[in-house]
Amino acid sequence: MHSFAYCHGTLHCEGVNLDQLAAKEGTPLYVYSKRTILEHYARLKEALSPLDAEVEFAVKACSNIAILNLMAHQGSGFDIVSGGELFRVIQAGGNPHRCTYAGIGKTQQEIQFALEQGVYAFNAESEAELVAINAIAGQMGLIAPVSVRVNPNVEAGTHKYITTGKSENKFGIDFERIEPLYEWAFRELPNIRLKGLQMHIGSQLTKAAPFVEAVRKTAPLALHLKNKFNIEFFSIGGGIGIVYQNSLESASKSWWDQTPEQLTIKTYADSIVPLLQPLGLKIIVEPGRLIVGNAGALITRCLYEKQGKAKTFTIVDAGMNDLIRPALYQGYHQIIPIAEHPDRPNIVSDVVGPICESGDFMAQNRSLPQVHQGELLAVLSAGAYGFAMASNYNSRPLAAEILVDGNSWHVIRKRQTWNDLIAGESIP
Ligand SMILES: *Cc1c(COP(=O)(O)O)cnc(C)c1O
Repeated sequence: MHSFAYCHGTLHCEGVNLDQLAAKEGTPLYVYSKRTILEHYARLKEALSPLDAEVEFAVKACSNIAILNLMAHQGSGFDIVSGGELFRVIQAGGNPHRCTYAGIGKTQQEIQFALEQGVYAFNAESEAELVAINAIAGQMGLIAPVSVRVNPNVEAGTHKYITTGKSENKFGIDFERIEPLYEWAFRELPNIRLKGLQMHIGSQLTKAAPFVEAVRKTAPLALHLKNKFNIEFFSIGGGIGIVYQNSLESASKSWWDQTPEQLTIKTYADSIVPLLQPLGLKIIVEPGRLIVGNAGALITRCLYEKQGKAKTFTIVDAGMNDLIRPALYQGYHQIIPIAEHPDRPNIVSDVVGPICESGDFMAQNRSLPQVHQGELLAVLSAGAYGFAMASNYNSRPLAAEILVDGNSWHVIRKRQTWNDLIAGESIP
């Protein structure tokens, strides 16, 4: 579901008029709905309630401290992938004891910081990392809580850049090597406590089947490790996909019970809960996109219309530096005008940004109601991996971020200035 809808001909986020908001705060502008975020979290918690389940929000999807603070207040834990993310969680008022720390390239400094802060567990992704964690914990006189990320070698059926659970991916350790690895670590690494087993097979999965396959394959291993090494949790990762296409239209239906082929929170939970319940382990899920994806939109203004020989271009003020998903993984985003003009004809155009790259587009060959210079568009479902992946490429200041709550809103990140662009640089 999401909270973007037309009211008297103008798109609103909850009770906030986005035309007025953009006039005040400028564009490009990220806008998030608090209500949607809370609702997604609550629905997932509810659907997993038959389990001893912990939801850990994947910080990398949307890492603004206001969003993290919101999640911490709901009781969420956090899935982190860097020392910087752990720092953010702490600044946001989150609890480090409810963080699991994933990622294949943790540095010595990051491991030390995470041990000092007392993270719930490291999700180790190689033998060499286990050795490093053991050594650092030893120097600090601590026992490091560790789980290992298993690569179950299942096909997630998503874009190849966000598939992570195949043997050729850099993530995790091959399924067959997990048990000998636990035996070795148990014997040889005295400063490590084997606390769990983790997996994460990919992102934007739109079917339950790959989750079921991965859980079916891995659950017996988790049970075996529980019996042998007394592990206490099994983390099944994140990856639950969201509706990008026609998300506005589907939001007006009951998203909770959509068409059977669409992955919903309910179909996700119904398909895995029965497989996980008998394990008697704490189950961790690490959703990122599901929580924030449809809660955010990127508001952008049309700068120019341009008629080329082969194509029509709608040139907007948001570029791939603001939202890289279309360029990076052919991500689809629904784009709608902020002002409804039912009388206007649709035209087919490429909605492109100002960056000097041909890959800089929001949409290609997209049929949209014609937009004119100065008019506003909303790029929907931009809450996850949107601002979080933004850069200063082409020396473009980072956009502002707004959190809407009912009829009120708050600037949760100021728009950068040109001075911000060169802060930290110096001429010898
Ligand atoms: C990115 C990531 C997630 C979140 O993925 P979503 O598709 O946003 O739910 C969860 N766990 C790990 C280890 C990740 O790297």
